[in-house]
Amino acid sequence: MFTSAFVGASAVAPLGMQNRQECDVLVVGGGPAGSTIAALLAQKGRHVVVLERDGFPRFHIGESLLPLNLPLFERLGVLEQVKCIGVHKPGAEVVSDGHSHTAIFRFDQNPYLSVDHSYHVRRSDFDKLLLDNSRTLGATVLEETRVIDVELRAEGRSRVTACGRDKMASLWFPRFVVDASGRDTLLLKRLGLKKVDKRNNTAAVFGHFRNVSSTNGSAQGMITMHLFKHGWFWTIPLPDDVTSVGLVGTRSFFRTRTDDLDRFFARAVAASPGLAQRMANAEPVSPLTATANYSYSSPRFSGDGYILIGDAAAFIDPLFSSGVMMAMSSATLAADVVHAWLDDRKAGERQMRAYERKLRRGLHSLSWLIYRINNTVLRDIFMASFDLFDTRNGLLAILAGDFYEAPGLMPPLRRLQLAYGFLYPLSKLGVRLPVTPKLRPAQL
Ligand SMILES: Cc1cc2nc3c(=O)[nH]c(=O)nc-3n(C[C@H](O)[C@H](O)[C@H](O)COP(=O)(O)OP(=O)(O)OC[C@H]3O[C@@H](n4cnc5c(N)ncnc54)[C@H](O)[C@@H]3O)c2cc1C
Repeated sequence: MFTSAFVGASAVAPLGMQNRQECDVLVVGGGPAGSTIAALLAQKGRHVVVLERDGFPRFHIGESLLPLNLPLFERLGVLEQVKCIGVHKPGAEVVSDGHSHTAIFRFDQNPYLSVDHSYHVRRSDFDKLLLDNSRTLGATVLEETRVIDVELRAEGRSRVTACGRDKMASLWFPRFVVDASGRDTLLLKRLGLKKVDKRNNTAAVFGHFRNVSSTNGSAQGMITMHLFKHGWFWTIPLPDDVTSVGLVGTRSFFRTRTDDLDRFFARAVAASPGLAQRMANAEPVSPLTATANYSYSSPRFSGDGYILIGDAAAFIDPLFSSGVMMAMSSATLAADVVHAWLDDRKAGERQMRAYERKLRRGLHSLSWLIYRINNTVLRDIFMASFDLFDTRNGLLAILAGDFYEAPGLMPPLRRLQLAYGFLYPLSKLGVRLPVTPKLRPAQL
């Protein structure tokens, strides 16, 4: 039995016998997910080939990383290099003009967190660093090589057709296929598994700017989330005094756009006083980019001889800067699955089921929060002058990267859900949590 995932190859030269090659694992895509799994499996002695459509370095969005990324960098041996290309990130600042208030969440003050900082990175540099590292650790990486067809075979080797920069087709016969193609979702689309989540259907506009005034004092180096009625802005400090600024808004907000993207963005910034002040002298260093952010997932993330990791498996709103962590952590979990499967199929299948459960648990926790982020009750809990039911620290530790929290008696997310359930009907009666002007920094 096989399933074909044909992507469409125009003007690709026919296959020559010399182009037929075998490997243990073929990874489609060399972003953070693909390069992580390639590095880990190569370290275990597997013959891994990564086929990456683009030539690196190349622009990618997703620049703010989480603290629990750091142990993964250490495992890959790149922690010092990431430190060199990154901007130190001590936490997150949330500015709510609606609450006339700023809340600061510091990683180093959170009792649940063992890592007290993270980094912001230019993805072009970061992704190249990770991909080069996977080469150093033994993976074969072919850039400017696009996968155009995958035939998954339940028995024997799958067949993957790719097209290189010379427009020549090459044919690969791996024992296992890893889909790390990001939001292109090569296999999800072709297997008809992609389920769009209509409850989280936002869009984003973003660009790089100079002369964005930085936040001062204890918020220096932090990502700032400026909340506004229909969404939120991020500001992320990057190297060389460049700041990444992006707007994430609901579809209905984007439908109010009547003029070009620059004017739409400028109007939205002007309506957000805290950000407008910081961007008073801002100069763009790149054109603005717009993208749909719709979330999606799949009823399954693995099958006979294949596994989906990172954005190729599921995507959720970038609100909590969770994408790269999700990509690298799912790749790390999947590396163990694939390694086991190659030795003993039954054992591998057991691990696949555990992988599915874990991934789904992480996605579910983050989605619960994201669905409610424009809701006053959840925003009040984050901005309140006290930590209701002591949920905030635990919850923010999850948002620092520990998405796969094991179900316990009363884990932080469950406590938050109870607090939310308690406050929601009260909010309908006009009862709100107090937000004092001088908020004790919540301790992320
Ligand atoms: C607006 C926005 C803001 C975000 N902000 C953040 C943030 O601040 N922090 C954060 O952690 N995350 C953020 N994210 C999410 C983050 O960008 C992704 O989650 C992350 O890049 C996923 O990594 P990945 O390796 O799965 O996919 P990708 O990084 O997308 O890598 C996939 C790779 O596959 C390649 N590819 C695709 N198709 C093929 C093919 N057919 N053949 C060969 N190669 C192929 C692509 O060229 C690409 O290099 C944001 C996302 C958006 C949309």
